[in-house]
Amino acid sequence: MRVQLLPSTIDEDGRASARQHLLSMIIDDTIAIDAGSLAFSCSDRQRDQIRDIILTHTHLDHIAGLPMFVDDLFASLERPVCIHATSEMIEILERDLFNWEIYPRFSELSNEKGKVLEYQPFERGANFAVGQYSITSVAVNHQVAACGYIVSDGSQSIGITGDTASTDEFWKLCNERSDLAAIFVECAFPDEMSQLAGVSCHLTPSGLKGELAKLDNTDVRVLVINIKPMYRQTVLQQLAEFDRVEALDVGKVYDF
Ligand SMILES: [Zn+2]
Repeated sequence: MRVQLLPSTIDEDGRASARQHLLSMIIDDTIAIDAGSLAFSCSDRQRDQIRDIILTHTHLDHIAGLPMFVDDLFASLERPVCIHATSEMIEILERDLFNWEIYPRFSELSNEKGKVLEYQPFERGANFAVGQYSITSVAVNHQVAACGYIVSDGSQSIGITGDTASTDEFWKLCNERSDLAAIFVECAFPDEMSQLAGVSCHLTPSGLKGELAKLDNTDVRVLVINIKPMYRQTVLQQLAEFDRVEALDVGKVYDF
């Protein structure tokens, strides 16, 4: 599986910046987990191919690129963009984003070929298929109803926590998978901001250490995502003493 965390911003040389403000992870240029930067920094190939977007939750940094992604494709879509999300998330999107006031309600609009946006709701904890991929959703511990995922292409799988504070079920699922190639785990704040991390339901390096103690498989790669840009250096320094984690390079394509 090829996995890429799309860049959020560019640096002074016009290249993808390491700082991650938004989250959108692309698997095999085909499906997207979240749509934070989807419309803004996906390749033309990704824009042409991605029609399934699986949401971890509805915070803005995870959905900011969603309206523009559908908008850009509006006239050319031959099948609708499908958002896979829980019914709570869908309700929030329809009420607070696609409400005609913030942006058009695409779920009510069509082009010449048919609908441009549709929802595929599921219950947290459900398994479902998206194309050739099997997806296992798991409730995680965040300020709003949020999911982590195990995504399998049939021969291997990856785990993605999404935004979460300490959680158990995700790690239990990871321990049940013998084909797990990598886990993408959040670590938003440095240790000295543990209070804010607690209130906003995110992890710090110390919190992450506690989470990784729940993981039995010591061979699986652990890649850290979702480091708040302004604390990136501090978080990286604090993670440097960990044996088994690496900070994910924003924009880099990882092949598993
Ligand atoms: Zn969040």
